[in-house]
Amino acid sequence: MNLRLIPLLLLISVALASAPIALAQDKGSVDPTPLPPLANPNDPKLGAKELFGRKVLPAAKPTRVVGFYAKGCIAGAKALPINGETWQVMRLSRNRNWAHPDMVALLERLSAKAHKDAGWPGILVGDMSQPRGGPMFTGHASHQVGLDADVWLTPMPDRQLSRNEREAMSAVMMVRSDRLDIDPHAWTPNHLSVIRDAAREPSVQRIFVNAAIKKALCREAKGDRSWLSKVRPMYGHDYHFHIRIKCPAGSSDCESQPEPSDGEGCSTSDLAYWFKDSVLHPKPPAEPPKPKPPMTLAQMPAACREVLAAPDAKQ
Ligand SMILES: [Zn+2]
Repeated sequence: MNLRLIPLLLLISVALASAPIALAQDKGSVDPTPLPPLANPNDPKLGAKELFGRKVLPAAKPTRVVGFYAKGCIAGAKALPINGETWQVMRLSRNRNWAHPDMVALLERLSAKAHKDAGWPGILVGDMSQPRGGPMFTGHASHQVGLDADVWLTPMPDRQLSRNEREAMSAVMMVRSDRLDIDPHAWTPNHLSVIRDAAREPSVQRIFVNAAIKKALCREAKGDRSWLSKVRPMYGHDYHFHIRIKCPAGSSDCESQPEPSDGEGCSTSDLAYWFKDSVLHPKPPAEPPKPKPPMTLAQMPAACREVLAAPDAKQ
């Protein structure tokens, strides 16, 4: 990473401590350095991300979602194949194309709809979850239980991307430089169509987009607008949108989240917070805040220990 960027990123992550942004456009490497083994994996202060981030394969157990979107894990996750007829997975070096089988099926279905309804060759899929879920080294407070996925707001090109391109290619910025609206040179009615297709899926609970994108959806949605209630403004999400599905049926260890209210969330007062100058351009804190200690395994649901300890699933 460019060293000059670090203070800026720190600032952003401080401002958004409760909701770190996922930088879909961060580049990866086709040949990432493997993480060194842990000197003391049983250290109670160790960040759980150190344990989950070292798992290369899912737990060989029946599929089980444990905990909450931002504090949990998953056993028996499934990989979204890196190439489909109407999708490709990006940033393969992150090994984050794992999810609950319902999410994998949803992305496959949605990619076909994007092809049919928006005329895109397909979708580019960003981060889903790690093989056993859990907290990550970079980005995302959520994405921990295999029920969250990021989809780029850039159509899939009409050819198979190389591994190198999947690490280096950037998504297209959708938000205008003053951050008050979408960039009309980048945003198209097809973007609305893809987001609407996702929001209309019954299993989808919420979709997160930048507030400028929400504003554009509110302005442009015609006919049935009920799907807008699921689309919520969130920090970041200028380059991708985030799909969150409900706890799948029978997932008794999955902690659900209240349903979004029925309103469209399109009124001036609904959106006012997001366009306040202090939110668009947060002031740097007077003193650099102390870094928060990472979430430890002891702070996570107890069943995540079993998920970590299970043998690797055969792929
Ligand atoms: Zn996300």
